[in-house]
Amino acid sequence: MYEKQKILNYFRIFFFLTFAFFISGCTTFRSALPRPINDVLRPSSSAKIIRVAIMVSKPTAVVSVIGPGTFYDKVHHKRIQRFSSIKKAVFSVQNGNVFINGYNTKSSHIIVLSDMPQSIRVQDKFKENIVYRGRIDIIADGKNFLTVVNTLPLDEYIMGVVPRETFPAWPQAALKTQAVAARTYAVSHMQNSNYENYDIISPIHQLYGGVTGEALSTTKAVLDTQGEILTYNGKVLCTFFYTCCGGKTEEAKNIFSTIKEYPPAVTSPYCKGTKNYAWNYSVALENCSQKLNKAGKPLTGRILKVKIIERFKSGRAAKIKFSSKSKSVVLTGEECRRILGYNNIRSTLFKVRIKKGRLQFVGRGWGHAVGMCQWCSEVMAEKGFDYEQILKHFYPGAEIQR
Ligand SMILES: [Zn+2]
Repeated sequence: MYEKQKILNYFRIFFFLTFAFFISGCTTFRSALPRPINDVLRPSSSAKIIRVAIMVSKPTAVVSVIGPGTFYDKVHHKRIQRFSSIKKAVFSVQNGNVFINGYNTKSSHIIVLSDMPQSIRVQDKFKENIVYRGRIDIIADGKNFLTVVNTLPLDEYIMGVVPRETFPAWPQAALKTQAVAARTYAVSHMQNSNYENYDIISPIHQLYGGVTGEALSTTKAVLDTQGEILTYNGKVLCTFFYTCCGGKTEEAKNIFSTIKEYPPAVTSPYCKGTKNYAWNYSVALENCSQKLNKAGKPLTGRILKVKIIERFKSGRAAKIKFSSKSKSVVLTGEECRRILGYNNIRSTLFKVRIKKGRLQFVGRGWGHAVGMCQWCSEVMAEKGFDYEQILKHFYPGAEIQR
């Protein structure tokens, strides 16, 4: 009996050391949990909490924590380890289980919690360690991939969005305009999220740089507009925005077919002459044919003619026809942008012609042009408009709710 106990003890020590080893950089271990885990998992504040996917379907994620914290198993509702700090934890997924530095947690959902605010870092694709507020969830995404989600109070998230979507040196009115638009856009996603584990994706929906991206001027704009959102006909408005309108915004229904109610498009001359106002792009006809083929819109033979066959009221290209000797294909303006590259065809407000074996585009604006033009907003703020006036210019009929 005694021998059996001894073997069991050896086994426990071995297991503990193995576990200690898997968290490299962990200086000391504490088994006691100094405060109820539920405090961190379910914040008592009444603030709205948002779940931001910062990595989707990636093979690994590298996390570090400056200071004490906990790895928590969300599936089995149990703490799996306390740590005093983590220099480098490499998360991966095998057969739907999350591994930490090669250690199988036998769970598909691990939460990284820190005792101190702003002490969790996640490496981005440039291998830069980005600091995040709130907590980090590592969730198995299929058998071998993972998704990383940052869960935090809404306004703390917006503090990391505004400096990435604007320039912190912009006038306060433009920063406040962006703060309200970004907050409303986020709330709209929280209400209508199609995803199980998160509400919004960075950078697809809006840019987000965590604490690392924050600046004093943009944080002030978030705090000065705290809790303010836009509603339209009593509902939270999906406040689209983009870089530059090129002089006119676009009707939402022309770009997003599922949207039924939206503030009307407006003429907005303020961004004229700013750095993203005009653009041009040229591509060899052969190269364009290859891209059409790859996108499942094949043409037989050389492109001989390109014509915009329909424009929206704003002048944006609605339908573009590409013709060869024996065949033609018709693309919508946004399809044309997707196939030839969103950063090449910056907007659908363009003219196109064939010259010297190339397609030559000349256009204005950058983005889909639904909702707020960020560069018009900046110029309007310079001219003395306040943020409420700027918001009402781009979202006519919308109300600010506090
Ligand atoms: Zn504009």
